[in-house]
Amino acid sequence: MADSFYQKSRTDLISVLRKKGISDEQVLTAVSRVPRHEFIQSSLVHRAYEDVALPIGLGQTISQPYTVAIMTQSLRVSPGMKILEIGTGSGYQAAVLKAAGCQVFSIERHLELMTKARTTLERLGMDIACRCADGTLGWSQFAPFDGIIVTAGGPLIPDPLKKQLKTGARLVIPVGDDKVQNLHVITRLADDRFSTEVIEGFKFVPLIGKEGWSA
Ligand code: SAH
Repeated sequence: MADSFYQKSRTDLISVLRKKGISDEQVLTAVSRVPRHEFIQSSLVHRAYEDVALPIGLGQTISQPYTVAIMTQSLRVSPGMKILEIGTGSGYQAAVLKAAGCQVFSIERHLELMTKARTTLERLGMDIACRCADGTLGWSQFAPFDGIIVTAGGPLIPDPLKKQLKTGARLVIPVGDDKVQNLHVITRLADDRFSTEVIEGFKFVPLIGKEGWSA
């Protein structure tokens, strides 16, 4: 199906996101540029522009567009920022960050998902560094980052991620139990000083790793 077929649905999705409170024009433009249907299995592709999470295999999901938008807005992205994502999944959130002009590094613990996401991103001409590893440890080789986004929910805030933030940079991460999580938006003010804002009431798949839940 030609991309133009999906254009109207994508425009409708942007209106939905505006009504739900997404106001950062850079984020809305980035979402409007990314063909979400390319990140979804063929049997569900007709639902690509509904504001819902959808299964991507291995018990994982592509996040709801509202969640992607509020997390990207909370990161306060601008072109040229170096961003680390934990939980590549389908690659959709990484693509939105790339469309916002960021340099993107993304880690996924399932090799099969990472390989598929990498193939999708390459097909769309998006140059994103992908790696299969435990993302709760960050990616020290490329640290420090201008922002870190975690798209799976953990029991606590991984210390290695806080350490890999530049001063002034933000970490957006869902924290909670297995039923509900709150989004923590953490800003590194100085070496060991951080501020935290909390946005309540989300449901993510579990963050599994050394600094997350055990497998
Ligand atoms: N950002 C994704 C959302 C995928 S769901 C998208 O846009 O499609 C979250 C993903 O985090 C899952 O694929 C899961 O396998 C992965 N994940 C969970 N714990 C992880 C960890 N410690 N390191 C890397 N990836 C992890």
